[in-house]
Amino acid sequence: MGNSIDPLAIARDLIRCPSVTPAEGGALAYLADLLRRAGFAVHRMTFTQAGTPDIENLYARIGGAGPHLMFAGHTDVVPPGNDTAWQHPPFAAEVAGGMLYGRGAVDMKGGIACAVAAVLHHLAAAGGKPKGSISFLITGDEESVAVNGTIKLLQWAAERGERFDHCILAEPSNVETLGDTIKIGRRGSLNGTLIVTGRQAHVAYPHRGENPIRGMVRILAGLMAEPLDAGNANFQPSNLEFTTVDVGNPTVNLIPGEARARFNIRYNDCHTLASLKALIERRAAAAAGAVRHAIEWDASNADVFVTAPGPFTDLVAGAIVAVTGRQPEFSTSGGTSDARFIKDHCEVVEFGLVGQTMHQVDEHVAVADLETLTAVYRRILERYFA
Ligand SMILES: [Zn+2]
Repeated sequence: MGNSIDPLAIARDLIRCPSVTPAEGGALAYLADLLRRAGFAVHRMTFTQAGTPDIENLYARIGGAGPHLMFAGHTDVVPPGNDTAWQHPPFAAEVAGGMLYGRGAVDMKGGIACAVAAVLHHLAAAGGKPKGSISFLITGDEESVAVNGTIKLLQWAAERGERFDHCILAEPSNVETLGDTIKIGRRGSLNGTLIVTGRQAHVAYPHRGENPIRGMVRILAGLMAEPLDAGNANFQPSNLEFTTVDVGNPTVNLIPGEARARFNIRYNDCHTLASLKALIERRAAAAAGAVRHAIEWDASNADVFVTAPGPFTDLVAGAIVAVTGRQPEFSTSGGTSDARFIKDHCEVVEFGLVGQTMHQVDEHVAVADLETLTAVYRRILERYFA
């Protein structure tokens, strides 16, 4: 397979595909070709939903037996912003000073390139077939609304009878150095709106009105006073942040009729979605007294989860130690990812490149990191199929 098995070559080919969500940009076609030539059964599917762009996806599998290890990821990238702000053009995949530059270098075409290279190496060494099954579940819909991507791919696979034992999501999990962090879970994310109702009146006749700002201030203070929990072994404490408080009253002599505040909660597994909502509503009611108020909750598809430390996380951590000499931290910090969907189908961990330049101008990855991550994935494959 020559050059095509080199993670740098694959990463460069992928970066040159301008796959800003929802565009496929040639990235999935490229992977499909590479994997098909290595003996994978490759499926390409387009998922649709009213009001969102159609999105192309890919599922590829080799082997029919267990255990079944899945590599998951996305080939879509966030827009480059102002091209001229980049020292190295965002889709040119230039290498300079030991760094590969381009949109998606770390998030996450680089990670996918390493996984593909590692799997192709593994298959070549194993005579073309794994001892169990290896699959790639790759979407073009992660960076935007994520409704025509991984969630539907997994549903499609389940309907075909596909069963997965474990998944590695190649998102950039490391904070500063390759090998420093495995993500074993994610906090949940929940948005809500607090609405306080008063009664309009002329400011000169306040007894005729009821200023909702007074009640809003009390409830805001009540909801911000106490932590939601103290965290636990796997998670930092949950946190509620108000993101905006709005009255929108342009009139200087009018007591407004209503005030609204938006907030987001990043929550850990001390709570369920239901218990968390109940807790917030209880605290708001206690602070409100007689103030008329309501909380409207947005629908959430980002529930908290954790892959309990055990044999699989130990296997991944052991491979990282063996290759890098670093003992990775098990983390649940940061924003959500597609792991929130995968966790309903199998155990999932996230381990990829170093995330520092993701979504930034001149996103880049050390070429040496591509080699090291490929070596880690190879070691994982060897141990998994030992
Ligand atoms: Zn990503």
